[in-house]
Amino acid sequence: MMDTLLIKGLRLFAYHGVNEEEKRLGQYFLLDITARLDASSACVSDDLDDTVSYAAVLKTARSAFTTSRYDLLERAAQAVADTVLSTFSSLCEATVRILKPDAPIAAEFDAVGVELTRRQSKAETAEGHRCVVVGMGANLGNAADTLRKSCSNLRQLPNTDIVGTSSVYRTVPFGCAPGQPDYFNACVLLKTALSPHALLGALLGIEAAHGRTRPYPNAPRTLDLDLLLYEGVRLGTHELTVPHPRIAERAFVLIPLRDLFPGGCALGFSFNANMDETGVTRTDYPLLYD
Ligand code: ADP
Ligand code: MG
Repeated sequence: MMDTLLIKGLRLFAYHGVNEEEKRLGQYFLLDITARLDASSACVSDDLDDTVSYAAVLKTARSAFTTSRYDLLERAAQAVADTVLSTFSSLCEATVRILKPDAPIAAEFDAVGVELTRRQSKAETAEGHRCVVVGMGANLGNAADTLRKSCSNLRQLPNTDIVGTSSVYRTVPFGCAPGQPDYFNACVLLKTALSPHALLGALLGIEAAHGRTRPYPNAPRTLDLDLLLYEGVRLGTHELTVPHPRIAERAFVLIPLRDLFPGGCALGFSFNANMDETGVTRTDYPLLYD
């Protein structure tokens, strides 16, 4: 049985487009998302846990659409579909339509746009599971609790398990404007069958679900999830760089990473395990619920 979840006319400001001025000035876009799922349990139970919340899908789509600047609506629509499908494993298909009502074209029209349909990818499991390290940080709200909740979110991703956790560290803010609250940082080791891009999409979705905004670079945040290492993968695209380029310069990443890899060799990435530990203090906060 197939049911449909609908989001219509989500109005988002973003900077996609081939023209320079589109990238500089930005414009409004309209998104429709039509997702297919089996909602028969929710029809009987009346319980939100048995279906997918519109609010969560909407937040995830907004984050996927607005975090990067793409030339093409095709690419932006793909990012939205990938992120929504990898974040909500009970959706089996998503159709994403993006309209650009103010496209800079000398003609009269209501809107131009694209529509694409993507299915939950089974092919991603074909190569088996790989080890991945995700770095977590938060310094707004109940940060230690957010890290714990985001671990639960990671465990719920399709074909993904947490197989190791670091301690939770309290860290003096580094490389940002003074006066921010302290950070809480940790690393988790996952085994996942998700591809690097699908996993990044899922991480951005989890950040969005915890209220992450990006008002300016290095702004305080409710949750930051970085894909630090992905077994056997080196990538240097605009959207995703793996290993994460700033691991070696950040004690708040290296110290939790050393909990997982005490010898200083993490999935082929070597680091000096004798780092300066100033400003990074171990806490007793648990990272996983019992
Ligand atoms: P930071 O974590 O450096 O404070 P953000 O969390 O705002 O910055 O990340 C901005 C963008 O960095 C993301 O939208 C993502 O596309 C890109 N990015 C590139 N490589 C990675 C990676 N390895 N992990 C997470 N994000 C990455
Ligand atoms: Mg980040």
